[in-house]
Amino acid sequence: MTTYQGKCHCGHHEWEVKLEQDQQKHILCHCDTCKILGGGASTMNQIIPKSALKITSGGEPSKYAYKGDSGKSVSCYYCPKCTSHIYHHQEVMGPDTIIARTALLAEARKNFDVGAEIYGKAKMKWEKEIAQTFETLPPS
Ligand SMILES: [Zn+2]
Ligand SMILES: [Zn+2]
Repeated sequence: MTTYQGKCHCGHHEWEVKLEQDQQKHILCHCDTCKILGGGASTMNQIIPKSALKITSGGEPSKYAYKGDSGKSVSCYYCPKCTSHIYHHQEVMGPDTIIARTALLAEARKNFDVGAEIYGKAKMKWEKEIAQTFETLPPS
């Protein structure tokens, strides 16, 4: 288990994320929502227990909620000043699981490989396969 330091673009929010060895990689999400919210071809994520993320500065993040594929709500928690997304919570995953944005953890940004790719069906046609790719989500 290693603790990673997260920081939003403006520095208002800082947080810590604890990741087990097998979580120390990016899961790329190619869904259209990630493209629209993030402005890039994909986002970098890891699924973690809610208790593994601790906000250390900036207080409660702002929240934006929308309906996911499942029809259940997805809440995005972000810095109100610079809009960097810290983590997401999908109602469908239950109350104790969240999705941390690994691109915002400095060490992860520098060192992590890609563990898997999800929502491959929405991948940009010019992107090469980097890791095992799932049409939507891996079977659970
Ligand atoms: Zn910020
Ligand atoms: Zn996505």
